[in-house]
Amino acid sequence: MVDEPRIPRPVLAELRAIAGPEHIRLADGERAVYARDATPLFHGMPDAVVAPADADQIARILRLATEHRIPVVPRGAGSNLCAATVPLAGGIVLSTARMNRVIEVAPDEMLARAQTGVTTQGLGDAAAEHGLFYPPDPGSRTVSTIGGNVATCAGGLRGLKYGVTRNYVLGLTVVLPTGEIIRTGGRLWKDVVGYDLTRLLTGSEGTLGVITEVTAALLPRPETSRTGLAYFDSLTDAGGAVADIIAAGVIPSTLEFLDRKCMDAVEQYAHLGLHSGAGALLLFGDDGDDAVVTRSFERIAAACKNRGAIEIQTAGDITNSEALLTARRCTLPALSRLGSLTILEDASVPRPHLAEMVARIDAIAAKHRVTIATFGHAGDGNLHPTCVLESASDTDGIARAERAFADVFRAAIELGGTITGEHGVGAAKLPYLEERLGTAQLGLLQRIKTAFDPAGILNPGKLGSALTGQDNDDRSGQR
Ligand SMILES: Cc1cc2nc3c(=O)[nH]c(=O)nc-3n(C[C@H](O)[C@H](O)[C@H](O)COP(=O)(O)OP(=O)(O)OC[C@H]3O[C@@H](n4cnc5c(N)ncnc54)[C@H](O)[C@@H]3O)c2cc1C
Repeated sequence: MVDEPRIPRPVLAELRAIAGPEHIRLADGERAVYARDATPLFHGMPDAVVAPADADQIARILRLATEHRIPVVPRGAGSNLCAATVPLAGGIVLSTARMNRVIEVAPDEMLARAQTGVTTQGLGDAAAEHGLFYPPDPGSRTVSTIGGNVATCAGGLRGLKYGVTRNYVLGLTVVLPTGEIIRTGGRLWKDVVGYDLTRLLTGSEGTLGVITEVTAALLPRPETSRTGLAYFDSLTDAGGAVADIIAAGVIPSTLEFLDRKCMDAVEQYAHLGLHSGAGALLLFGDDGDDAVVTRSFERIAAACKNRGAIEIQTAGDITNSEALLTARRCTLPALSRLGSLTILEDASVPRPHLAEMVARIDAIAAKHRVTIATFGHAGDGNLHPTCVLESASDTDGIARAERAFADVFRAAIELGGTITGEHGVGAAKLPYLEERLGTAQLGLLQRIKTAFDPAGILNPGKLGSALTGQDNDDRSGQR
């Protein structure tokens, strides 16, 4: 059954006047689309979906929402994997879909300015037209928005060499819940005036302000980009190769791994001719001047060979690097085909503990009788253990998967790691926050939230909210 909208009529009338009646969705079916994001199991019906045109309209909407204590959930493409845009308390979903213009690319300053709703790929394409390069490349880049990337501090396949979204955010225009519009940072590469609010807002997951414009740093476009892969008997061998590659002074642009279960799923899905007898696959890539890439590929291949790689394919054997990257990029859709419910998680450990963490995940999966396949960014120690369940209504299986993931996060923390490397906290990871941050830091986070958002209207039930006090092993009450 679908809930009736709970926003008072005069407020709805004002929202219509601000954004235009054609940019407000109130019908059940239209609102239901915004009740979920890319995270399975979580949902919450919004009372209205509004798509404003600019920062001024957003300022008026937030002022109104603060005055009437109506929750507002900023939303880009809704591709996040931590229930960060699920409107748990109802209210307004504020869609940035109309703010989708690249404002400028300035080659002489090596920067671009884009409205928040521009896709990651759209920004990258605009930079490429000027011979420039925007490195962050989340797997969702064709749909995810630059505002969503900044709000989650998205990572991606090039994180090891180029870093993540925060490394490219020079400045932001942000509307505060009070309706004030602030500009943090700007076009300057050096500017140390005041607290670094640009960094604070990057990764703030829609809980402190609504980003309307991003000034992003760009790099010169690399001359060559090449990809290769190596097969190993085990992830321990692959992990050893990763350590040796880095120790040899090579920082590849891409260093990704797939375990055996992921390789089998990808092969069934994409028929890429992956080695059927291998225990692990390491995908590597580098970019830059041709001679430099050739040299780094030689060193990567030597490190893989020393660690007993069964087979190595480098650009000499492969003409199309994109085909190899497909093996990594289609892992999630490939795993999704194995069952009706796929729960993808995100944890990071220090790089030397990668193989141990995968072994622990396998043991945890066996203990809780669930299937977990693991892939991720080997160079960053960032893993995506993914649980596949045959039926989406298998409540016992879901409960076992949740207990397994609670153990996975504890194992990551024990190894000096963290509960999310790139996907964010959202509603999904909130119960684990205190374990990771400690009470004092959690309290500070909540006080920062209050300073930005005294009425608590922005994305309630997420970062900065008081914890529910639920047991980590049973989060089913949130759904
Ligand atoms: C197939 C697939 C692959 C993925 N691969 C990666 C990957 O490699 N690396 C990675 O890091 N993530 C990845 N993701 C997760 C996701 O795409 C990223 O988190 C992305 O940054 C979300 O962007 P979005 O526009 O969809 O934001 P949304 O999902 O709409 O929102 C995410 C968060 O940002 C907030 N937000 C959005 N816009 C604004 C704004 N204008 N102002 C303030 N807050 C805002 C929301 O409130 C929410 O808290 C993947 C997801 C999928 C489905």
